[in-house]
Amino acid sequence: MANEEHTHDHDEYSHFHIDMPSLLSHVLKGDQTFTSDEDKAMGAVQHPSAFLICCIDSRFQPDKALDYGPGVTLEYRPISAVIPPPDQADQALLSRMAFRRLKDVPNIVIIAHSDCGGAQAAINIPNPDLKNGGDLDVVAYEVHRTGLDIGKLAPEFLKAANGDVKEAGNHLARDVSVQSLKNLLQYKGRGEFATIADEIAAGKGSVALLYYDLDTHKVDQYDLSKGAWEPLAGYKPAPNAPAVPSTTSKPPAPPAM
Ligand SMILES: [Zn+2]
Repeated sequence: MANEEHTHDHDEYSHFHIDMPSLLSHVLKGDQTFTSDEDKAMGAVQHPSAFLICCIDSRFQPDKALDYGPGVTLEYRPISAVIPPPDQADQALLSRMAFRRLKDVPNIVIIAHSDCGGAQAAINIPNPDLKNGGDLDVVAYEVHRTGLDIGKLAPEFLKAANGDVKEAGNHLARDVSVQSLKNLLQYKGRGEFATIADEIAAGKGSVALLYYDLDTHKVDQYDLSKGAWEPLAGYKPAPNAPAVPSTTSKPPAPPAM
């Protein structure tokens, strides 16, 4: 714990391993790092382009990874980016979905990631016990909420990974996110659309599922029609997609859809 006076020298401004006094001083220091475009966007009415669902994991910084500024995404960060079936959604998620509809946000992005602690907890505890178990059971249980049969999948993934929990967890994180995507499509849609799947079918909304590798920054995208993951490297926007205005500051563009 650093108790000495912070001078706000650039060298002292570490983003890592921050104690509370430093964290609070960074609020002030960070205030100077906003570009004028960001300042403007923060003071304006928000019209977010995307609803972003990613894990609570502290290592994944969505605004950096996807390079967007203020006003672009509504962020929701449940453990392992889990979206349960609509009839099992808690109020925290339902209220965010309602907010998405109120703000008329057309795009939804789910981002799973490598080395996910939630997925690894589920691998280690394929049958969590909420009543008598500990905190790890509570975390593992969250990953079960997609409805995947993890009790069956976890031993299979562990065996395939020769007992490597990280690798097995990476496989599970992908599968959990695919199930989350399938669940998401059944949620109530915007406007006249009964479901989000209906929004997409009508060309009024889009959903992307990504898997982000924290080690390599490599990104895969899940193709629901093919039922397969593919590298995002070859992504090309649709010919009729609006051009992203060129700017030297962080572009307020939505992430790749
Ligand atoms: Zn995670």
